[in-house]
Amino acid sequence: MQDYVYFDNSATTPLDPRVVDTMQPFLSGFFGNPSSLHGMGREARQSVENARRQVAGMLRVDPEEIVFTGSGTESDNMALCGSVGAVDTNCHIITSAIEHPAILETCRYLQQRGVDVSYLPVDSVGLVDPASLETVIRPTTRLVSVMAANNVVGTLQPIRELAHIAHQHGAFFHTDAVQAAGKVPVDVRTTQADLVSLSAHKIHGPKGVGALYVRKGVSLTPFIHGGGQEHGLRSATENVAGIVGFGEAARIAQETMSEEAARLVGLRDRLIEGLQSVFPNVYLIGHRYLRLPGHICIGFAGQEGEAIKMLLALDEAGIAVSTGSACSASHAHEPSYILLAMGFDPIRARGSLRITLGRFNTDDEVNRFLQVMRDIFPTLRRLTSYSL
Ligand code: PLP
Repeated sequence: MQDYVYFDNSATTPLDPRVVDTMQPFLSGFFGNPSSLHGMGREARQSVENARRQVAGMLRVDPEEIVFTGSGTESDNMALCGSVGAVDTNCHIITSAIEHPAILETCRYLQQRGVDVSYLPVDSVGLVDPASLETVIRPTTRLVSVMAANNVVGTLQPIRELAHIAHQHGAFFHTDAVQAAGKVPVDVRTTQADLVSLSAHKIHGPKGVGALYVRKGVSLTPFIHGGGQEHGLRSATENVAGIVGFGEAARIAQETMSEEAARLVGLRDRLIEGLQSVFPNVYLIGHRYLRLPGHICIGFAGQEGEAIKMLLALDEAGIAVSTGSACSASHAHEPSYILLAMGFDPIRARGSLRITLGRFNTDDEVNRFLQVMRDIFPTLRRLTSYSL
């Protein structure tokens, strides 16, 4: 869509044209099955293994420790169910109250099957206090799972400290790095995570492909059974085009990360300051500095009921953003469980806007966004007394 400003990069990102070029042959002539022994199969296998090296490079791990999956959601399920499946009784896992539903719903599923789950609280900017982990961890804790960056408020968690505490108590540490990887360093040599979830479509790669880093020596119980692909953890013929695209997306993200993060921080901060100078009632949600480079979540004091109207008015003006209330449009009117966990009252928890920038956003687009906000704001003000 020409002239459309896409500021919803946390939902998904546009494919990088270099990724499309890399995938193209695997959608036509190069259709071999990586398990086949003939030349076409070997070619597909080589491409999958090259992509595995590229994804491993993003975490600085051994390629053998990368398992390709069908999504970030599947990686999260594999990490949690796979860890628990390896023990049968008296199992405890710990997560945070603001995880993505891919973690929280999996925890609920496991709770129904007798697993004990503790939810760590967060403070008003969405941070987990490592001291709170010390108070709930116990000898039966099998796994601690805390996301690297939150998808709604963008806050970065102290995963290194959390992993350290988990290990001191004999538990494994998993992090959902779907939002963080490729944008901020998620170097496993530093964080010491045992399991890390990734998804290609958040880093300008294709949808429907993810990965789980599984540290050597961590044993997971598979929940997809079949031909034994992906070290037996994820049986299924590999999505070769998707995996190859993921590899290229990971390579580009890794190579350009520090430069791109600095550029996005510049755009992000200009946008925040621009909004604050025009609208004195704007408040930033999440941590001011410990946040993803291109991530903004804001509220408008006294006008929280306007978030969806703002989103629709922006959409009409050709700008895509999202509300911070949910990852699914069908829940857009409900207060965000993430903001509720951060101590927001239900009205404020319903009224945030999430503006997330990515590789293809420009200075001019930030200017256009600020201009459109100046234009639409007076109209929204007049509508304040009406509900949708
Ligand atoms: N975890 C986080 C933090 C996310 O933001 C998302 C997607 O928004 C997921 C997991 C799920 O990833 P996928 O869309 O690849 O299933």
